[in-house]
Amino acid sequence: MTASQATEASSNGRTPHPVSAGPVVQLPGAFGNFVTQAWTDLVTGAEHLAVSSPNPPKDGKAPLVRLHSECLTGDVFGSYRCDCGEQLAYALELIEENGGTLLYLRGQEGRGIGLANKIKAYALQEAGFDTVEANEQLGLPVDARCYNAAAQILAEMGMHEIRLLSNNPDKQNRLAKAGVTVVEMVPTEVPSREQNIRYLQTKKDRMDHLLTLDAQTAGVPGSGTNTFEHEQD
Ligand SMILES: [Zn+2]
Repeated sequence: MTASQATEASSNGRTPHPVSAGPVVQLPGAFGNFVTQAWTDLVTGAEHLAVSSPNPPKDGKAPLVRLHSECLTGDVFGSYRCDCGEQLAYALELIEENGGTLLYLRGQEGRGIGLANKIKAYALQEAGFDTVEANEQLGLPVDARCYNAAAQILAEMGMHEIRLLSNNPDKQNRLAKAGVTVVEMVPTEVPSREQNIRYLQTKKDRMDHLLTLDAQTAGVPGSGTNTFEHEQD
């Protein structure tokens, strides 16, 4: 049993996952004026960041929430191997406009396998394996992420019902188990790229992500018409 599985098992009985909050501070930036608050997972020691719109959601709707798993290569270096960086920017724009929170979840690199293992998986992908097979070749779970800390942070922020910015139905199920109700799945749409089309196709075919790849023109980068939905790694 991995640490995350053990954590998940312990909170299936609804034992609150222990987290602690820091102060709320202003965070003006390129995507708008946000407020931010650091949260510490007292089980793993991971430090997460909540980035929120200072304004309440429009029309009294449930807040938009994006659970964004850390992706150093995509978020910081703008890698085209995945779509994380673009999804991060898109989610922040939507949250700034409509109200809500982006939880930046650290320690979830590469669907929870860590940065070094993710790069090893990339090497296997360059040898012809897809993103699922690569993790299997490394003897690692396809998705090792745990959302119990995220669910507890949302609860302590007063967000028991949310509109989830994601195309990943598994994420919705995991949050429900941890006690957060997703009243609506709000798809995220950023253009695909030649470099990540196989990765996205694998997520659609093998991980049940709610993608509409059929409607786009695969392998024609920069056409400007191949907008579709996908999900971070
Ligand atoms: Zn990524």
